[in-house]
Amino acid sequence: MPCPPANSKRASFVAGERVSVMLPLPLGGAYDYRVPAGLTLAAGDFVTVPLASRQVNGVVWGAGEGQVAAPKIKDVATLLDAPPLPETSRRFVEWVARYTVCSPGAVLRMAMSVPAALHPPRPVTAYALAETVPEVRLTPARRRVIGVLSDGPARPATELAREAGVGSSVVRDLARAGVLVARSLSPGATAAAPDWRCPGPTLSADQATAARALENHVAADAFAVTLLDGVPGSGKTEVYFEAVAETLKRGRQVLVMLPEIALGAQWMDRFRARFGGSPAEWHSDLSQAQRRVTWRAVAEGRARIVVGARSALFLPFPDLGLIVIDEEHDAAFKQDEGVAYNARDMAVVRARLGDIPLVLASATPSLETIENARSGRYGTLHLPDRHAGASLPDVALVDMRSDGPPAGRWLSATLVSAIQKSLEAGEQTMLFLNRRGYAPLTLCRVCGHRIQCPRCTAWLVEHRHVERLQCHHCGYQARLPRICPSCAAEDTLAACGPGVERVAEEVGERFPDARQAIAASDTLTGPRAAAELIRSIEERRVDILIGTQIIAKGYHFPMLTLVGVVDADLGLAGGDLRAAERTYQLLYQVAGRAGRAERPGRVLVQTYMPESAVMRTLLSGERQRFLDAEAKDRRDAGMPPFGRLAAIVVSGRDEGAVDEAARALGRAAPRANGIQVLGPAPAPLALLRGRHRRRLLLKAGREINVQAALRSWLAAARVPRSVRVRVDVDPYSFL
Ligand code: ADP
Ligand code: ZN
Repeated sequence: MPCPPANSKRASFVAGERVSVMLPLPLGGAYDYRVPAGLTLAAGDFVTVPLASRQVNGVVWGAGEGQVAAPKIKDVATLLDAPPLPETSRRFVEWVARYTVCSPGAVLRMAMSVPAALHPPRPVTAYALAETVPEVRLTPARRRVIGVLSDGPARPATELAREAGVGSSVVRDLARAGVLVARSLSPGATAAAPDWRCPGPTLSADQATAARALENHVAADAFAVTLLDGVPGSGKTEVYFEAVAETLKRGRQVLVMLPEIALGAQWMDRFRARFGGSPAEWHSDLSQAQRRVTWRAVAEGRARIVVGARSALFLPFPDLGLIVIDEEHDAAFKQDEGVAYNARDMAVVRARLGDIPLVLASATPSLETIENARSGRYGTLHLPDRHAGASLPDVALVDMRSDGPPAGRWLSATLVSAIQKSLEAGEQTMLFLNRRGYAPLTLCRVCGHRIQCPRCTAWLVEHRHVERLQCHHCGYQARLPRICPSCAAEDTLAACGPGVERVAEEVGERFPDARQAIAASDTLTGPRAAAELIRSIEERRVDILIGTQIIAKGYHFPMLTLVGVVDADLGLAGGDLRAAERTYQLLYQVAGRAGRAERPGRVLVQTYMPESAVMRTLLSGERQRFLDAEAKDRRDAGMPPFGRLAAIVVSGRDEGAVDEAARALGRAAPRANGIQVLGPAPAPLALLRGRHRRRLLLKAGREINVQAALRSWLAAARVPRSVRVRVDVDPYSFL
C-alpha cells in the first residue's frame, strides 16, 4: 500500500542544527535539542531525547527556538522507526491546546498514547482453518470460531476470539485439536480490508438525495460540515456508508466516531455486511497489543477506516478524507478529565485543518449544531421518514401523580397491562431506567441517616446482586450494614427508590414466566458480554429487557414493540444547563427503539411532570417548537450556543488550601465588558475521591476571546502546588 507523501516537502535539519522537540508531557512548550552527527531530522519525526536523567519520546516540531544556551544543549538520542506525525496532526495538537487552555504536550500525549507503536512490530502468529479438518465435537462456541474463519483470512488468537465472541481457550483447544493451524503473519495485515465495491442497499429517494450530496462533498475534497438529521430508523447509517464508500474508493482514510462502544456490536455487523471487511477499532476496551497494531496501521495509512470513541480523533491519520460522527449530540463525546475537549467540536477543527468533509448524524441534534445549521455554517440533509414505511412509535404519558403504582412498586397499572399484551403477542419489551444498581439511597427508618460515600458528596448505591453498596463517582464499595451507622438500631436500613435491579425484581414478581435481562454498564462487562446480550435479544431469547442508557441508543430490534420509561423525570432534576435538552434527546432515542420494523411500536412514559416541555414534546412530536423555546431561553440568558462558558475547578486534599486558592482566583477574575465570573462556590460534588472541590464559572459573550481571558486570569492568581486547577472550556458537566 503506498504511503502518502508526508515526507516529501518537510524541511530537514542536519547534524549540529537545533530542533525544537515537543514532549508528550504537560510542560510549557517544546524544548531545543541538537541534531547529532549522522542524523538528518525533519518536522514530525518521532525521536527520543534525554530529559533530566530519563530518555523520553517526542516529536520534532520545527527549528530550534534558541531558548537553551549552547553549552547546555543536549543531543537528540535516536530517530524512531515510525512514520512521522503528519503536519495536520501537529497543527491539530496546537489548536486543541490553545482552545482548551492546556499545554500542547498534554494534547500530544493523546496523539502518541501507544509508545510501543513507535517501534516496528514483530511478526505475529495467526490462525487459519486446517486444509483437512479432523473430527472434533463442535460446540456452538467452536462453530462460531470456524464460522469467522470460513469467510476471512487468518487472524491472531485474540482477534479471532473477540470476533467469534468466545474465550481464547476455545481457540487454543481448536488449534491443539488440529482444526486450526498457526501461521506467521506480517503484522497489521490481519482482518479482511473493507471493499467499497460491495453493493449497498437500494436507497429510497430521500436517502439517495442525501447520499449523493455527501458523496459530492467527498469528491469536492474540501472542508464542509453537514448535519444528517433524520428520525431513528430513517437510514442515516446507510446514507453515510455511501460517503464512506466514496472516500475508500478514492483511497483515503475514514474516521467514524460513535459515542458508546456498546453500540459497536451491531454497527460492526452492519459494516461488515455492507463492506465485506472490518474497520479498525479504537476504544477503551482494546488491549495494548491491539492499540499498537491499530495506531501503527493508521500511521502507515494501511488502516483505511477506523471506528472509534472520541480519542480516535487523535490518531495520526496521514490521509484522512472523511469524518463521520454518529449521534453527534451525545455527551460521551465530551471528555471532562485531563484535557477537557468535545470531540464533536474538535472534529470540526480537524476537518478544517485537513480540508475534508465532516458528517454529523443524529435524530436529535444538539442545540449547538442546530444553531450552526440555521446560520448556514453547516449544511443540512433531512431524512423525514422511517425506512420501508415503518411508522414512528405511538407515545403516551402515564401521569404518576394520579395513576402511579403503590409505594415500593415502580410500574403503573397501564404499563403492566401493556407488558402483558406484548408478552401475549410474543413481542419484546424494553423498560428504561437510567440508574444502575438496586436502590440509589439507603436510609435508616428510625433516625433518617443516609449512607454516604466517605470520599464523595454522594449517597452509596445498593447493588443487590453483588451484595454491596457502591459509590458511582469513585468506585468505593462497602457491605450493606445490618446496624445503622448513626443510631445503631438494628435492621432499620431501607432501600429507597429504584435502580434497574429493583425494577427487574418487580418484573420477576409480576411476570414470573417472562425471560428478562438487565443491561447496565456494570452488568455488561466488556464488548463480548454486550454482543452476547444483543444476540440473545435478536434471537428472541429475552422477553423483557431492563436497561440504562447503555441500551438506549442505535440498536435495532425488530420484535421490540413496547418501550416503558420507568422514571422520565430523572434527568430533569438539578441545575444543568442542558437538562431539558438532554432528557428530550435521551427519551426520544429510547422511544426510537420501539417498533422499528413492520410491527408498530408503543411507548409509555411514566412522569410526575406531564405538563413539562420535554414530556409535551415527546407526546406531540413537535421538536421544532421545543428547540425554539430552548433556544429562546438560552439566548435570553446568554447561555451556549449564544454565549460562552468556561469552568474552573479547584481541587485538593486540604480544604483550607483549596478555599484559599479558589478565593485568590475569584479576586483575580477578569473584569472586562462582556465577561461575568460566578463563584467560587462549593461544587455540587464538593468532595470527590477525597478531594475538596470549588468551582468558578466564566460566562462571556460570543465576541469574547475566552481563551485569552482564561490564560491571563490563571497567570494572575497564586495557587499552591498542592491545589489542582482545571479548566473546562464549554463545560458539559456542572458537578
Ligand atoms: P438510522 O441510522 O437513521 O437509525 P439505519 O440506517 O439504522 O437508520 O436504518 C434502519 C434500518 O433500516 C436498518 O436495519 C437498515 O439496514 C434498514 N434500511 C435503511 N435504509 C435501507 C434501504 N435503503 N434498504 C434496505 N434497508 C434499509
Ligand atoms: Zn465516592
